[in-house]
Amino acid sequence: MNPGQAQTLESLFGPPSELIDIGKFVGCALNQDQARDEGERDNVAHEIEDECSVDGIRESLFNVWNNPLLAAHLGKGHDKAVSNFHVSANLTKRTRKAEKSVSSTFSSGVEELQQSLDAVELKAFRLNTDSILFMRTSKNSDYNVLEKKGPVKTSDGAKGSQDVIITLSVYDKVAWAASYVKRSSQMSFCSSQTLEDVYRSIPCLTKEMPSGYDPSTSGCLLYLEGKVYQNEEQDGYSGKLFSHLDSLSKRRPNIIERSNANLHDSTFHSLNIRLREPYWMVHSGNCEHFVVFDQIRLAHIADPLSGYPFFLQVPPALLDLCRGCTKVPAYWSIVGDIRLGESPCVLCDFCWKSMGDSEEENVKVIPVTKPRAPAS
Ligand SMILES: [Zn+2]
Ligand SMILES: [Zn+2]
Repeated sequence: MNPGQAQTLESLFGPPSELIDIGKFVGCALNQDQARDEGERDNVAHEIEDECSVDGIRESLFNVWNNPLLAAHLGKGHDKAVSNFHVSANLTKRTRKAEKSVSSTFSSGVEELQQSLDAVELKAFRLNTDSILFMRTSKNSDYNVLEKKGPVKTSDGAKGSQDVIITLSVYDKVAWAASYVKRSSQMSFCSSQTLEDVYRSIPCLTKEMPSGYDPSTSGCLLYLEGKVYQNEEQDGYSGKLFSHLDSLSKRRPNIIERSNANLHDSTFHSLNIRLREPYWMVHSGNCEHFVVFDQIRLAHIADPLSGYPFFLQVPPALLDLCRGCTKVPAYWSIVGDIRLGESPCVLCDFCWKSMGDSEEENVKVIPVTKPRAPAS
């Protein structure tokens, strides 16, 4: 990893937590939970419910948001404030004039609402110029294609009574910036599952190669807290990694070692990890991902008993556009057709059919592999 990439990763993740021995941590948390009797657990649950309850403000909030006039006033006011911050911070080089603050010709309901908002004394209630540091437009990876159908189960992994729930995110490199990564999915596992389960459930295009190449035979390497984990039968990746490290420096400090356990034997219980620390994974030759542990928590009564890992978030797929019309997503990848000027060339079905048959021999027409959302 080059210094630029390390810096970008630091700005996207972290700060990492202290090292957590998941096995010990789970044992301790379960003991504390079981030491409480039923009644005490109920009391704690009610206390949390009371503390987190928004009943006190629910009605007044809904009264405002259900009134189109008031909701529009708040929305417009917020948009204008944000736009003015951008102009005053000179973030955009365009010479836009700051929009005037909200018009003074309010209808009576709106004026009343504005007066009550102006009367709020809490300083943090209003946006101030420092807020600009924390504002950005939404990215593709902020959206979730699973929003409507909720968490999606991927296999039949069952939750044991001693299991806790582990949430992790997978980040992929992007093609247009060497040192940038984007989140490609977020999943929840139970702690008796293994690193092999993590590798198997990561959605990745190289697992769907149409050419008959079987990626499951290529193995996988995961680097986690100074240890290298890999598939049982494959020694290729770690062998290459260590010979590369040896070639970099004869006096390589002995900080990276092979784990005694392979991916298949390494349950989450057996790991020492830090939350929010990106861990490097490579498979299918040169396909890289970063795995980040987001959360470790006790199981809740509402958690499903089986179906782990669950997909919690998958951003919408970015599809290649047809090179012919540049309007619709490409459906075919054409290899070796001299008329197209590039090979492979991706085209939509309509553009490919309207070109007619090729006179070339050995032209291959392959359906484009599309990133798919996990099926339910
Ligand atoms: Zn991959
Ligand atoms: Zn087209």
